Amino acid sequence: MLTSSQPALVSKLPHVGTTIFTVMSKLALDTGALNLSQGFPNFEPDPVLTDLVARAMRQEHNQYAPMPGVPVLREAIARKTAEVYGISYHPDHEITVTSGATEALFAAITTVVRPGDEVLVFEPAYDSYVPAIELAGGIPVYVTLTPPDYAPDWLAVQEKITDKTRLIIVNTPHNPTGRVWTRDDLNQLAALVRDRNIFLVSDEVYEHIVFDRNGESNRAHHSLMSHPTLQERTFVISSFGKTYHVTGWKIGYCLAPNELTAEFRKVHQFVTFSVVTPMQYALAEYMNRPEPYLELADFYEQKRNLFLQAIAGSRFRFTPTEGTFFQNVSYAAITDEPDYDLAVRLTHDIGVASIPTSVFYHDRNDYHILRFCFAKDDDTLKRAGERLSAL
Ligand code: PMP
Ligand code: GLN
Repeated sequence: MLTSSQPALVSKLPHVGTTIFTVMSKLALDTGALNLSQGFPNFEPDPVLTDLVARAMRQEHNQYAPMPGVPVLREAIARKTAEVYGISYHPDHEITVTSGATEALFAAITTVVRPGDEVLVFEPAYDSYVPAIELAGGIPVYVTLTPPDYAPDWLAVQEKITDKTRLIIVNTPHNPTGRVWTRDDLNQLAALVRDRNIFLVSDEVYEHIVFDRNGESNRAHHSLMSHPTLQERTFVISSFGKTYHVTGWKIGYCLAPNELTAEFRKVHQFVTFSVVTPMQYALAEYMNRPEPYLELADFYEQKRNLFLQAIAGSRFRFTPTEGTFFQNVSYAAITDEPDYDLAVRLTHDIGVASIPTSVFYHDRNDYHILRFCFAKDDDTLKRAGERLSAL
């Protein structure tokens, strides 16, 4: 209760409420609905990995880790990055282990953005970017991605770049749309930033979840580190949560050239100082085998296909998602209700929770599209498909 002597707190984030992920997951729990809303697996990680955590604890890895992350984990990340992308980051001064990608995003944005700086954000956008920009005093400038293909309009990007643009935030594979940037997208971006004082934050938490790689599309994850003009100015961010089915561990990392990492770590050390120790040792050892991340795309492609088969006879319309574990579907043929209302109604009425995509646009563009997470066991996906098909 506010007493007369209490100072009045003026919100620094007046437009921010509880995230849609929390809202929909709670509603799913309260109603007993199948939860295809918040992005997390409803199955367990490899027991080998959890056993490694127990072993690390027994081996007395229970005190503060070094501020940038335990050396063996940074070395494992460096090895993996070199193997997968052919790029070397030095574990001592170019790799930092963070409390999830969320902390890495916050620290990178805080490192770069000063009051009055403009930051380009492609939207729909993952919901943590803009509050971090605003807390740093930056001004978000939006570039809209529109269905069905959500391809960046490079002319629009060019028009939004000004002398005040300090940072562009990229997310590929993209949450919520599943779009995967092409090599041409990277070239277009490079041409725009080449001679400018602009940094990049590249959210690549779904780096290992790209589909239809052998088909005509020739699709692949193109990390921003793979383009030299981009690499030198980019904070590349990933997360073990998505790759090893451990979203609750909240461990991620940031790769950035030496000078960028030095400043990044100044923020990191006072946001969180260091990250949970035994999990870092476990992850370092688990990373010795590449199969878990190399096989992840096939694992999720099978789940995507199962979910799409399960809703093939429904009135929802969709293009198979290119990456991530999210499938967007249009419900325009079923109803013209606002997407938020429909997501809530479907949770109550048919017991399937989803995410309304309008929440990822600052002015709540409603294209009548829902996002479904298919990081769920096959039975859940089939049951959800049956319920959605009955609509
Ligand atoms: N970026 C994107 C695009 C995400 O989807 C998520 C996660 N859910 C995050 C960042 C945050 O990752 P973490 O849970 O490792 O903080
Ligand atoms: N990234 C997850 C999603 O998009 C949710 C993470 C969270 O709940 N903050 O659903």
